[in-house]
Amino acid sequence: MPAKKRNIVYSTDPAFKKRCPRCGSYPCRCPQPKSLPPEQQTAAIRRETKGRGGKTVTVIMDLQLTPDDLKALGKQLKQACGAGGAVKDGAIEIQGDHRETIAAALQKQGYKTKFVGG
Ligand SMILES: [Zn+2]
Repeated sequence: MPAKKRNIVYSTDPAFKKRCPRCGSYPCRCPQPKSLPPEQQTAAIRRETKGRGGKTVTVIMDLQLTPDDLKALGKQLKQACGAGGAVKDGAIEIQGDHRETIAAALQKQGYKTKFVGG
């Protein structure tokens, strides 16, 4: 009988850190949401002021997109605004107040938009 493989998890194992917190697997095995067509979506656009420095960001929420599609859309919006930004927690953040530009860019793609919050 062959020796049993020792099942050691090294903390330096790159897959260890990437494991999905929900299903504990890498790659993630959670059911992935499908992207809805833009025509069926309403993007919520909110301006947020972060921290004491009062840095303004425009946050686009409520989009049902796969992480890849969300990332691609974030890239397009960054280009449209000529600003930096990030995609996190299922939302797109663009630095600065670009609500009008973002709404116009999204509407051009077929999304409905609404402004929320301040
Ligand atoms: Zn998962």
